[in-house]
Amino acid sequence: MAFESLAEKLQGAFNQLRGKGKLNEKDVKDAMREVKLALLEADVNFKVVKDFINTLTERAIGESVLQSLTPGQQVIKLVNEELTNLMGKTQSKIDFGSKPPTVILMAGLQGAGKTTTCGKLGSILKKQGKRPLLVACDVYRPAAIQQLKVVGEKVDVPVFEQGNEKSPVDIAKAGLAHAIHFNNDVVIIDTAGRLHIDENLMQELIQIKDAVTPNEILLVLDSMTGQDAVNVAEHFNSQLEISGVILTKLDGDTRGGAALSVRAVTGKPIKYACIGEKLTDIEEFYPDRMASRILGMGDVLSLIEKAQENFDEEKAKKLEKKMKNQSFDLEDFLDQLEQIQNMGPIGDLLGMLPGMNSKAMKGVEVNDKDLVRTKAIIQSMTPKERQTPDIINGSRKKRIATGCGVHVSEVNRLLKQFEQTKKMMKQFGGMEKKMKRGGGFK
Ligand code: GDP
Repeated sequence: MAFESLAEKLQGAFNQLRGKGKLNEKDVKDAMREVKLALLEADVNFKVVKDFINTLTERAIGESVLQSLTPGQQVIKLVNEELTNLMGKTQSKIDFGSKPPTVILMAGLQGAGKTTTCGKLGSILKKQGKRPLLVACDVYRPAAIQQLKVVGEKVDVPVFEQGNEKSPVDIAKAGLAHAIHFNNDVVIIDTAGRLHIDENLMQELIQIKDAVTPNEILLVLDSMTGQDAVNVAEHFNSQLEISGVILTKLDGDTRGGAALSVRAVTGKPIKYACIGEKLTDIEEFYPDRMASRILGMGDVLSLIEKAQENFDEEKAKKLEKKMKNQSFDLEDFLDQLEQIQNMGPIGDLLGMLPGMNSKAMKGVEVNDKDLVRTKAIIQSMTPKERQTPDIINGSRKKRIATGCGVHVSEVNRLLKQFEQTKKMMKQFGGMEKKMKRGGGFK
């Protein structure tokens, strides 16, 4: 889960305050020392930590906290506010400009996730009603153009390419002209990355910038590289003047140093966060929600949005009907599992619930692999077995288990789980009928 180790340490620091009725200055200072250590261990920039702790201590020693009857909670509230400020206070959206097409220049080092993120961004903007075009300007890495084409195809966003003979500047200009001609209102330009910052690369980006005057220059940063990512951001910003950052691989970043420092060091906002390899694993970056997640206060708003994004109204209506006439079968069960899977890694989803911090999660056996196994078991059943699970006898169970490489007991467990779900639905159905009869449910 993102920020797991930082969250654990910060929550440890607050636990010491929770039990206390009143705080004195020393209590606050002790807690601040713990917070400081947690941030430094998380690889947050040293100067950022220093300023953060100074502001926080000043506020915490102020009258309201020391006189409060729930000082522990007051301190957490302050830390929440200051973490939010550190990451940029409010959400920073894409500036689409006044006249389409909006040009977004993507920059970053090789391996940061630039090409993948072009696809993710294209996909999320398409869902918002835009007509994006991806432009392949990485003419150096042999497979880069092909990779962008594959990504574009997966998210159903067109890709403009002219092979690798022309200069990236010419391709960018031609891509823009193509977008105007074909009515694409957003142009996302994928550029070349190098392993390290390199002057030729920087010059090329500056030339592309001059040629297409982008509305946004977004720097793609691998959050797992911590302070290195922040140094890269500082350099790109000084040369190219970026407009924002997209943080990738937050799913594997237990520390959070880049996310917490990049805004303070460069003055540029984080606009999106990527939380997995799938092309749906991108979300808009909300500093307040991220701070809440770090502090184990949950992020129910993001969870609801994720559910809504993946909600298929047609399917939901069909399911409701099936629940009512009790014809819910294993095909529907599979469908539900797939919808959950589309929402992202289960650990991340649970992490968005209040109280489900890293400690609480340790007791819960949640595993995306379980979901994959369950799907595999259902998929190795015949359509008839899925529709009428009652016919699954011993020999069928054996065949199903062999088909997906699991033990028969796992097939049994799944069937039992399915029966329980069905029973639960039956009870809901019954309850609804009763309430309707009683006039309490219209
Ligand atoms: P580029 O060289 O900057 O264009 O990077 P790529 O788009 O080729 O990505 C490099 C690797 O990082 C690929 O294996 C991606 O699947 C992976 N990747 C990209 N974004 C994420 C992310 O948010 N989470 C995880 N876990 N992997 C990612």
